[in-house]
Amino acid sequence: MDAANPSRSIIGHLRGALAHAAKFALDIALPTQCVACREPVDGEGVCAECWTKLSFIAPPFCPRLGIPFVYDPGPELLSMEAIANPPAYQRARAAVRYDDVARTLVHSLKYQDRTDLAPAMGRWMARAGQELLGEADVLVSVPLHWRRGWSRRYNQSGALARVISRRSGVKLATEALRRIRATEQQIGLSRPQRASNVQGAFKVAPERSADIAGRRVILIDDVLTSGATAEACARALLRARAAQVDVLVFARVVDTHRAPI
Ligand SMILES: [Zn+2]
Repeated sequence: MDAANPSRSIIGHLRGALAHAAKFALDIALPTQCVACREPVDGEGVCAECWTKLSFIAPPFCPRLGIPFVYDPGPELLSMEAIANPPAYQRARAAVRYDDVARTLVHSLKYQDRTDLAPAMGRWMARAGQELLGEADVLVSVPLHWRRGWSRRYNQSGALARVISRRSGVKLATEALRRIRATEQQIGLSRPQRASNVQGAFKVAPERSADIAGRRVILIDDVLTSGATAEACARALLRARAAQVDVLVFARVVDTHRAPI
């Protein structure tokens, strides 16, 4: 939305940069607070108590979509959603369910410059995506539109991808996937609106096609909601002849009413 808004002038960007600089100075002076409960913490941004409130996703889950099952339906049985509406990507994995604590972490990383959260979140993602990372050639993060990247100054998916690349040793293809048109924020849109909003919004840069063609790619993002963004990115990567696309996110929305087949 902001990318299409002409009132977001260069002065607005400069003001944002100054506020960021002031906040950065403050962060050096003050001990880190837990992002969820505001208690002081050493190092990593989430206190032990809030950490236990995160809903880490563990087996059994759908081998295709990574959606947790309430009971184990047996190996290789897919969720109804994976059968009814198979995505362009091969597999998706998430570290945690998208609940209140996870939302606080994601929003703090995305909008409040809590970059100190990225190492812990990336580490949990690397653990959740261990199987995928073992078979991958390259990581690609979901790009922001350049104007949005500039105003927010920070690509949270890129930061998570850097952490995961360092931990796993899988190479990161920065800038290979581009957002070729600005899109509305997905928040507040219905599922079909989300799909059409991001359709055709991504493209592999022609000069970077060698990074993608024939490679097994993992797409990195912070949250999987309807899956529309991941789907649009996966289609762009497959059009650039990626051998396979998997998706690894920090948090995914889990519909608690959905039962396994
Ligand atoms: Zn806390």
